[in-house]
Amino acid sequence: MIRTLLIFILLLTQVGCHGTHLREQRSGVELIVLGIAQDGGVPHLGCQKPCCIAARSEGIRLGPACLALVDHSSGKTVLLEATPAIEEQLSLLRELTGLANEGRRPIDTLLLTHAHIGHYTGLIQLGREVASTDAVRVHCTSRMASFLRENGPWSQLVRLDQIDLQVIKKGEPVEIFPGVTATPHGVQHRDEFSDTVAWRIDGPSRSVVFCPDIDGWQDGVLDLLIDGADLCYLDATFYDGRELPGRDLSEIPHPPMVVTMEHLADKARETPGRFRFIHLNHTNPALRDRSVRAEVERRGFAVAEVGERYFLD
Ligand SMILES: [Zn+2]
Ligand SMILES: [Zn+2]
Repeated sequence: MIRTLLIFILLLTQVGCHGTHLREQRSGVELIVLGIAQDGGVPHLGCQKPCCIAARSEGIRLGPACLALVDHSSGKTVLLEATPAIEEQLSLLRELTGLANEGRRPIDTLLLTHAHIGHYTGLIQLGREVASTDAVRVHCTSRMASFLRENGPWSQLVRLDQIDLQVIKKGEPVEIFPGVTATPHGVQHRDEFSDTVAWRIDGPSRSVVFCPDIDGWQDGVLDLLIDGADLCYLDATFYDGRELPGRDLSEIPHPPMVVTMEHLADKARETPGRFRFIHLNHTNPALRDRSVRAEVERRGFAVAEVGERYFLD
């Protein structure tokens, strides 16, 4: 009952979603948002602030940033990120689409950005103890692939052929469905275990950018990433940096939403809803403060919603 209610609320939120392309269509390639939070999700382990106390008491759970791509003609699926909430996110994908590809191929392909916990540790569910998947293709950089190959428990997934690592080259497109490519672009980030990429998906007539984690928009990287893209999911870890008093933000650098909105002000006015914020930290007021949310929307931006959908053709 609670799940049905949740889906109903999600469907309602889609209707209010500016700029998304909503159609009753069961062919073509569709993007669906499955998670919008920072790595730790909401509620966040150990958080005793009002943000997570309220989420716990209201039963609200938001998973880490994750997008799905569905090719409705073949029924094949691609997931951008394997988050710790992968089971809930894939269950939601099936409920929203009616897809039935269960069993040893719960997904066909994974595109990973980097080796921070919210972005890849869902891979653990593909192993022997859980789904024991059959060679799910995992596209990642060579440094990320080496990290997975050389460190347990990930190395066992490779050895048992539960994942099939495909090394990508930055700037080189990979065909994920007929007529749909994914291109990784290197971005600067806290790269302890792997390097980091943003993904650009080019469909038959529309393009989407997914950049959940980046240190900042220096050197014109933002303009390069969004160039010609119809929908851009951008790092919104922090709103203006004031939401984490006492933490040294230089240790966890991200472009604050207010800086991104300033930089993209004209373009957002031209095409409201084109820029959609994702990867919000549990403390980010844009998650729940109505006046902050209204200000974001007044400026032509949007906070991504779980369940929002967009056709790429
Ligand atoms: Zn992250
Ligand atoms: Zn919190």
